[in-house]
Amino acid sequence: MTLQNVTVVGAGVMGRGIAYVSALAGFHTTLVDISEEQLESAYEYAKETTQKGIKREKLTAVQADELLQNLHTSTELETTVKTADLFIEAVPEKRDLKKTVMETADDHAPEHTIFASNTSTISPTELASYTKRSPQVAVMHFFNPVHRMPLVEIVKGLNTSDETVSVIKDASIKMGKETVEVNEFPGFVTSRISALVGNEALYMLQEGVASAEDIDKAVRLGLNYPMGPLELADLVGLDARLNNLKYLHETLGEKYRPAPLLEQLVKAGRLGKKSNHGIYKYEQ
Ligand code: NAD
Repeated sequence: MTLQNVTVVGAGVMGRGIAYVSALAGFHTTLVDISEEQLESAYEYAKETTQKGIKREKLTAVQADELLQNLHTSTELETTVKTADLFIEAVPEKRDLKKTVMETADDHAPEHTIFASNTSTISPTELASYTKRSPQVAVMHFFNPVHRMPLVEIVKGLNTSDETVSVIKDASIKMGKETVEVNEFPGFVTSRISALVGNEALYMLQEGVASAEDIDKAVRLGLNYPMGPLELADLVGLDARLNNLKYLHETLGEKYRPAPLLEQLVKAGRLGKKSNHGIYKYEQ
């Protein structure tokens, strides 16, 4: 199957990054959101990221122009998905919302369209059950920031066909990514490890073991992680992290119980970098 048209739904932290690498790969890409404001900010993000790319000599001016020409935005999922060869869902990690989006896309997409979800935790078999095309559904898990992080974790559901995996793998490679194939299990490989390490760091902060800065510094310099677990939690979004932990706690047990401090920060609206305040404070 030749991929030409990609529809990405959800223009937040992840969707805008996925749309960026998709347009850079040469796919005619349409980013869909219910919010015009999010779409405008996602297009601005693409413009700024291409400018930074040119300055760092990662991108030529011609590539940047082509990327922006390949990138479109819309608030209408039903019409956009009619021409999609690959549909990538990146709406918030809420089951009911993902169900509605998958069902709507399934009703309007052509038969051949492959469905991928960027979920961090939800079972691809469950997501596939919201459609009438379960062999054509898999998880395509990107990382934040998408244009810099080299991995896509491909997670197969019970009925996912080898052809679907192969199409998603080829698309990922065109988007400049390496892939791993993972069998379905809550949290896959990466979300499970990242949530556990991040949660332990939050428990340490809550227990007064060390300051946030020193916990991150210890992990960066002593364990050779590129980022500290608390900085990473702020980047991921503390609300998203809390959602993931709640799901892992429910499915895998006690060791994933979210740190009370995390619950408190989210209640206070301290969601991380996106709200300019999480574990750390950020300049606007
Ligand atoms: P986000 O909150 O930043 O963005 C979600 C976007 O979806 C928003 O722009 C919102 O307006 C839009 N949206 C909500 N309902 C919609 C609808 N019905 N139709 C169209 N758009 C709608 O979320 P995010 O952090 O980008 O996460 C998206 C997905 O990616 C989640 O499943 C999350 O678990 C996963 N993920 C997140 C990260 C991360 O670091 N943030 C990493 C990997 C995977």
